[in-house]
Amino acid sequence: MMKLSVVVPCYNEEAVIDQFDAKTRSVLDTLAIEYEICYVDDGSRDKTLTHLRALSEKYPDATRYVSFSRNFGKEAGMLAGLREATGDAVVIMDADLQHPPELIERMLGLYELGHDQIIARRTREGDKKVRSALSRLYYRAVNKWVDVELTDGVGDFRMLSRPAVDALLSLGEYNRFSKGLFSWIGFDTVTFDYQNAAREAGETKWKFGSLLNYGMDGLISFNNRPLRIAIWLGLTLVGLAAVYAVWIAVAAMTHGVDSPGYVTLVAIIVGMGGVQMVMLGLIGEYIGRIYYETKRRPHFLVKESHGFPGKPEGVER
Ligand code: UDP
Ligand code: MG
Repeated sequence: MMKLSVVVPCYNEEAVIDQFDAKTRSVLDTLAIEYEICYVDDGSRDKTLTHLRALSEKYPDATRYVSFSRNFGKEAGMLAGLREATGDAVVIMDADLQHPPELIERMLGLYELGHDQIIARRTREGDKKVRSALSRLYYRAVNKWVDVELTDGVGDFRMLSRPAVDALLSLGEYNRFSKGLFSWIGFDTVTFDYQNAAREAGETKWKFGSLLNYGMDGLISFNNRPLRIAIWLGLTLVGLAAVYAVWIAVAAMTHGVDSPGYVTLVAIIVGMGGVQMVMLGLIGEYIGRIYYETKRRPHFLVKESHGFPGKPEGVER
């Protein structure tokens, strides 16, 4: 019988975690498979861990959890869950029931057809207009600038085959931008749509600022194409300056020098200064990433776990 692992990163989810567990288990019980649910408590400040302890006592064989020493972010949570998972296939789900557990059956059907990544893409129905418009714009920009393809509405809700999981785990980078990594590993991928659902209880961990940061990560953490754009922008400006210089020289020779052109000068100096600062910042972003990569720090630290198979990262035991 095949074994399925459900990986669930949770941060301050005490309000929904039991509901999630009950609903997901009721779906999994109807399927003819073995399963385990791997919770990752991402340093919650509420009673999430207490709930996880209770759940693992109630279902000791089909539940395991790992709890971080502090909040390391959802990326680290997913990584821990993928490492922890022992199944032939793994589903990654949010704890807030925005990822309907009923879809697991459909995913499993596609998995059995031999696909390695089965992606559930949410529609943007019910989202704020501004937000979905911004997302569309963002994805258009990203797909122009970044090597890997990212699709609007495609998130972390997906089923991965064992080879795909192992491929993901072989990528050791510190800055993990999962959307990019999923796409980068390739494998046989299928996508289907599902109706967007509102969070069942509790609240979203995303603020507008963190979304902007995440967007920035997507743009620059994946390749060095933005640096290439900087080069092209620089060359374009040099070209424009040269044309302008020739034009001024010709004008001076034919009409003589008349206007002093302070405004033009100031505008050019300020504009060029701005461009240079932006490009410096861009280079700084890459250097910052190199800095973090070279430290080789663990992605997360574990303070407590139940049924964790291997040695958790960063913990000497
Ligand atoms: N999450 C996490 N660590 C964090 C933030 C979020 O593990 O630092 C989890 C959270 O508990 C949830 C999932 O990631 O299971 C998605 O978070 P959320 O629902 O807040 O995001 P949204 O659905 O609004 O994009
Ligand atoms: Mg959510």
